[in-house]
Amino acid sequence: MIYQGTARYPITEIILHCADTRPDWMTGYAIAEKVAEIRRWHVEQRGWRDIGYHWIVDRDGVVAPGRRETEIGAHVEGHNRGTLGICLLGGFGASADDPFAKNFTLAQANATNRLIAEIKRTTAIRLVSGHNDYATKACPGFRVKLSVFAQ
Ligand SMILES: [Zn+2]
Repeated sequence: MIYQGTARYPITEIILHCADTRPDWMTGYAIAEKVAEIRRWHVEQRGWRDIGYHWIVDRDGVVAPGRRETEIGAHVEGHNRGTLGICLLGGFGASADDPFAKNFTLAQANATNRLIAEIKRTTAIRLVSGHNDYATKACPGFRVKLSVFAQ
């Protein structure tokens, strides 16, 4: 099991997000630079102590860590305790009911599936959901419950 914060909330859920970036955003930069940029948005613009997401999945399927899994994230109001936030780069202008392939790549689908499987090996995940399950937002730009990620 993996527990979060000093209260040791067990991780039981994965919540998917998108970065709301265009497909060509920061093309040519390493994933670490993209994570650093999102961290700047969250720390400098929103005043958070770190990037809100635990994992970031690039357009080419490269996965990079954000906030440590043992720390409570900042990605869904009211649902940050005991959840992990995974952010897929892309999704600019997406709608909640878009098909996954309209805004994201096959490499991202495969990488996200692998990441979820890895997380499930060390945690008791009961649910994989999307930001739009908890807020009237488009994010992540598809319905997670209807996707392969919810299997
Ligand atoms: Zn979101």
